[in-house]
Amino acid sequence: MRTIALLGATGSIGRQTLDVVRSAPDQFHITAMTAHANADALFALVREFKPEVAGLYVEPDHIPEDLKSTEWFFGEGFLTRVLEAAKADDVLSAVVGIAGLPAALKALETSERLLLANKESLVTGGHLVMEKAKRLGRQILPVDSEHSAIFQCLQGAADNPVQSLILTASGGPFRTWNKERVFSAKVSDALGHPTWKMGPKITVDCASMMNKGLEVIEAHHLFNMPLEKIDVAVHPESIIHSMVEFEDGAVIAQLGLPDMRVPIGYAMGYPNRVPFGGERLNLKKLGRLTFEEPDTGRFPCLKMAYEAQRMGGVMPVALNGGNEAAVAAFLKEKIPFGGIAEINARVLERTAMKPVSCVGDVYEADRAARELAEREIARLLIG
Ligand code: NDP
Ligand code: MG
Repeated sequence: MRTIALLGATGSIGRQTLDVVRSAPDQFHITAMTAHANADALFALVREFKPEVAGLYVEPDHIPEDLKSTEWFFGEGFLTRVLEAAKADDVLSAVVGIAGLPAALKALETSERLLLANKESLVTGGHLVMEKAKRLGRQILPVDSEHSAIFQCLQGAADNPVQSLILTASGGPFRTWNKERVFSAKVSDALGHPTWKMGPKITVDCASMMNKGLEVIEAHHLFNMPLEKIDVAVHPESIIHSMVEFEDGAVIAQLGLPDMRVPIGYAMGYPNRVPFGGERLNLKKLGRLTFEEPDTGRFPCLKMAYEAQRMGGVMPVALNGGNEAAVAAFLKEKIPFGGIAEINARVLERTAMKPVSCVGDVYEADRAARELAEREIARLLIG
């Protein structure tokens, strides 16, 4: 029986994680769970899974009588306090945004393994997280489907050097739209992802291809791979989840239906697989798989991520912070979809290159980027 602290239990990844736990209740116990503000949803999950510890950022009016045997934490720093109290074997971080960075760093202190869905923690604090994991001898297991695919392809690779990583991307809902139409796309258009059902922030990131940019940076840190050796292929069917090319030209791919419970379960059970009763892939029924070059003219955010990480220091933090602010404004229908890429470009342009040597530097760069982004948002306001 492994104990798991689940951060972001009420979200898309959080709920799918709990689905995997439901299918293997004798293998996993959820010892802690958190949400941001959605108290009613968390109460229902606490009632079902009976964790020892729970937390919410927004303190609710009251805790239901039958949930008072759980220890509760609220407000600033609640994620790290939950992790300290829970002392779980593993932490699955499925919170969204840079809020995942302090939690990831704390998880490396409190637990043996960090099962990481929250990509923003690696984009903003990648070298801090990876160095800490190395220093403390902790394992980081990817939950993001592309990174899980790469990790799975590397099993049995021995010491053979990797020639390149090929991340696949669905291309999102605007893959076939022209530039003008993409610019003025509505929130409802952006939230209609063709193959994956996910939380709103990552769904918008998929539509702009910023998600793939963030994933390139995530792969760079997780697999210690130079950016020149990380390629992106648009693959609209989302069946190949990513690939690894070796020196002899052999390419190993991981395939499956787009179902996040596969990478989630793989991280939870590693090195064992957790059968959860999902639908099976039938390649003959599918007929064919297709691939395209990403169009960085219509989707410039992907290129920006490469550029930001190439420059290093505060630049990826600035790109991420600006993007989080821009996506939030888009979801509130304050700016057009095309404003996201414009804001991200402006934030990068106006950020002075500085090194990052501690977490404080990351938060300062994030704060500055959000301030720059808010000024651009005010300029782009609709109506
Ligand atoms: P959701 O928006 O569906 O869920 C986010 C979860 O985090 C919710 O439980 C939410 O609580 C909580 N939360 C939100 N803001 C904060 C905060 N500031 N501090 C603490 N907790 C917070 O997101 P997803 O599940 O889609 O994504 C989670 C992470 O996983 C992201 O980093 C995403 O990029 C990554 N990921 C997601 C995939 C997917 O299929 N969804 C695939 C690959 C990666 P509340 O309900 O109260 O708002
Ligand atoms: Mg992904």
